[in-house]
Amino acid sequence: MSGPRRLRIAGGTVHDPANGVDGEVRDVCVEDGRIVATLPADAPTLDVRGMVVMAGGVDMHAHIASSAVNQGRRLLAAERAADPAPAPALDDGEPLPRSGTGGTLPTTFTTGYRYAGLGYTTVFDAAVAPLFARSTHAELDDTPIIDAGGFILMGNDEYLFRLIDAGERERARDYAGWLLGAAGGYAIKVVNPGGVERWKSGGRNVAALDDPVGSSRVTPRAILETLADAANALELPHAAHVHCNNLGVPGNVATTLESMRAVAGRRCHFTHLQYHSYGGSAGGAWRSGARELAEYVNAHPEVSADVGQVMFGPATTLTADAPVEYLLHKSSGRRWTNVDVELETGCGIVPYSYKERAAVAALQWAVGLELFLLAADPWRMLLSTDHPNGGSFQSYPELIRLLMDRAYRDEQLKRVNPKLLAGSALADGLAREYTLNEIAIVTRAGPARQLGLRTKGHLGVGADADVTVYARSENVATMFATPRFVLKGGTLVVEEGALRRAPAGRRLHVRPAYDPAVERGVERFFDAYATVSFANYPVRGLRDAPMPAGRGAPPAREFTAGALAERHHDVAPRTESSRDAAPGGAGGGG
Ligand SMILES: [Zn+2]
Repeated sequence: MSGPRRLRIAGGTVHDPANGVDGEVRDVCVEDGRIVATLPADAPTLDVRGMVVMAGGVDMHAHIASSAVNQGRRLLAAERAADPAPAPALDDGEPLPRSGTGGTLPTTFTTGYRYAGLGYTTVFDAAVAPLFARSTHAELDDTPIIDAGGFILMGNDEYLFRLIDAGERERARDYAGWLLGAAGGYAIKVVNPGGVERWKSGGRNVAALDDPVGSSRVTPRAILETLADAANALELPHAAHVHCNNLGVPGNVATTLESMRAVAGRRCHFTHLQYHSYGGSAGGAWRSGARELAEYVNAHPEVSADVGQVMFGPATTLTADAPVEYLLHKSSGRRWTNVDVELETGCGIVPYSYKERAAVAALQWAVGLELFLLAADPWRMLLSTDHPNGGSFQSYPELIRLLMDRAYRDEQLKRVNPKLLAGSALADGLAREYTLNEIAIVTRAGPARQLGLRTKGHLGVGADADVTVYARSENVATMFATPRFVLKGGTLVVEEGALRRAPAGRRLHVRPAYDPAVERGVERFFDAYATVSFANYPVRGLRDAPMPAGRGAPPAREFTAGALAERHHDVAPRTESSRDAAPGGAGGGG
């Protein structure tokens, strides 16, 4: 059902920055789902002369499969009804093609089809409450084509807070390891550390890194340090994935910088940085703080980030940062859903729309573009819209056009409300235009590297045969919106621009080693406080094996500037198939 076992993708212009290939005309050879060096002359050939060839896209931060996403789908029935998605005409009857609905939170099948239709083959859900991890895995089982995993929310976890309060940082690391395995997660997620728990408990959101959360020893700073260290000590493929305190508040650039300094020298990923890059002050006017943050990130190779670009049009704000959604509901008057998750986290949802003529939305749009255009190292400032928060993943092609085409960008800039743009780098004029190679970095090679996915995001020998072929167009948004061919694991899923096959994707998850002694305390805690028994809590029967330990990016101590520069040249493709080492498991993805 997957088409030819071998395929020569012949004569395309290849952009494969992880392997130092920048626009060379060459063949890409595929055999049994992997990239190989050569094929016999009589192997089937796909003629892509004149077209652009890249690895499949890797989305490191989106919301596509969680209890929160399902809540959002329920809230947005009208939006989804307005975007029916008929079942595609697939070549194979298996699995059965399915209809669905779109909008900002498409149904599971439509999510898989539409990502693949954009040339994306790997996607992570960035906010999974461990208690509801079953929902995430069930939804991902129902989302075709893409390889996928989830980040596990830990920044407002009651048991973790007890360990921090008791000064048990090592036990906290073991707890994080246990929780990741129990939830079938891929990485540690930290959302508004401490703030959600405090707000949920009837208090005010935290405002500063040393605000106490129940105890003076439990602070946003202590939570950040504990979880950033845990990710590194557990040798997870991805760093702790941090959504800072004070999201969306004027003046929050100070909090973001202080959070970065709190974990300085340690590998750490700061997500949707755009929402955390505002200057000004709580009572005063907003302004862009993108320059300060870009400078910090540029100077600190241990830091990676994704942008969380705002795109004009409909969006759905959906986050574990429940107090933020309460404020947005109050200030916008829009509908609001809040879901507290016992002992673990929260969740808030507010449907939204970013308007060009709205001053704050225009500032957010500009700040995101500034972060992209001021980033010295595109490997560490990666593309996201925090789908569906800043806009749908379907707006990525438009975002790519804004990055690649200055004339178009400047034209758009003239249409937006300039009220808060004084002193903004974008308003002052940014000439930079991303190259195709830089786009390949921010949409696949870079996310794969930061996620520690050794067989994703590149086209070297041994990589997964996830390949996207674009036909050139005057308008790069058109080019990126409708790839001509997409291969997923060697299967041609898109042919001549139409979805043709929809194989199941793989689950990417980890099961780090930890001291099992931690489980005794957790079990007592469950007996006393949880509505779920300890024995029933872990997810079981995931359809792919976990990624083996220690296979990810190098640990934090290697992150000196020199080592980083070296790593960028350390591009030798893997020669052995990692499938041997990682049965079914994520070839680097885990
Ligand atoms: Zn997010």
